[in-house]
Amino acid sequence: MTNASNSRAASLAHLRRARLSVGDPIPLPLTMAAIFHAPGDATGFNQYGRFSNPVWDAVEEMLGHLEEAPCVGFPSGMGAISAVFFALLKSGDRILLPSDGYHTTRILADRFLGAFGVACDVRPTSSFLDGGFDGYRLVFVESPSNPALDICDIAAVAAAVRKSGGQLVVDNTTMTPFGQRPLDLGADIVVAADTKAPNGHSDVLFGHVASRNPEIITAVAEWRQNAGGIPGPFEAWLVHRGLETLELRFDRMCSSAEVIAQRLQQHPAVGGLRFPGLADDPSHNLARAQMERFGFLISFDLGSEARAEDFINGCELMHAATSFGGVHTVAERRLRRGDAVTPGFVRLSVGCEPVEELWAAMQASLDRLSA
Ligand SMILES: *Cc1c(COP(=O)(O)O)cnc(C)c1O
Repeated sequence: MTNASNSRAASLAHLRRARLSVGDPIPLPLTMAAIFHAPGDATGFNQYGRFSNPVWDAVEEMLGHLEEAPCVGFPSGMGAISAVFFALLKSGDRILLPSDGYHTTRILADRFLGAFGVACDVRPTSSFLDGGFDGYRLVFVESPSNPALDICDIAAVAAAVRKSGGQLVVDNTTMTPFGQRPLDLGADIVVAADTKAPNGHSDVLFGHVASRNPEIITAVAEWRQNAGGIPGPFEAWLVHRGLETLELRFDRMCSSAEVIAQRLQQHPAVGGLRFPGLADDPSHNLARAQMERFGFLISFDLGSEARAEDFINGCELMHAATSFGGVHTVAERRLRRGDAVTPGFVRLSVGCEPVEELWAAMQASLDRLSA
């Protein structure tokens, strides 16, 4: 990682230091409150749990420190994405989404935005610049895309979208602010599911919107307050705790993924391997240019549904589960989620287990497929 990332990581656990009084707890206190002591009609303090909560403030301060931008927290990644759509779009607008990104974003646009008069087009991530961006109010990219791990040139897309008068939203869930910095590359908005690596323990859902444009932040914060899709204080508190170890976990997961991808590439049972860190991956050059790490997701094809299921279920250090970014290694056959992939396509999220033990368990499961 760069020096700037290391410096952000180092100060992350000390953000509250300057505000502590003697005897205050150093860990963040959990404030469970729907109402606060609020005499008179002054503003500027906590009044009601749909408007503000000290735990949200602390999580948003941490996320804002990592993004170097104001952030607004949401009860899930989709909550954050919905806030961007519903706070910023109006009838008559057109948006552009990746055809190969997280499928729920497309469902939200097709089923719900359409009914409000917002039209939606889709385009593959690997050729996202083709066709230009004229006429789009919002352009949404996900790079690397989930689950096929294609990449687009975020800086080039951001410049072209700006020239066409639109705004660029980047879903940075697969990378986190330690792996890729879309706002620095020119994006107007970052959205992310902190459900994944930022929380990291697979026990809560959370999401955030980050932007250096104050009008955007105000719009999504007002949308949250009025629509009522707010994070629970306890969930926010768990995300705060998770963020304290994000850099450590992310570093381990990315380093292990580099080792495992290289070994998977050598294994005869594995085809169609995708990992941006491999020198011969179609995404590699762009990944080197715009990402700080290559991530912890690897995808590949084991030839059939039965072989993919046998590999996942037969590996002692792997859970069969959807989602990714947690401390446990998990894998999923993505056809069962309706992605446009082959029956034997597996998305692997490398966890925090020691890498040699993890690889030995994967290799044993792969070897049993060939036997
Ligand atoms: C998981 C995910 C989301 C949605 O997050 P939730 O917390 O499940 O709502 C959005 N985008 C991407 C890329 C994801 O992987």
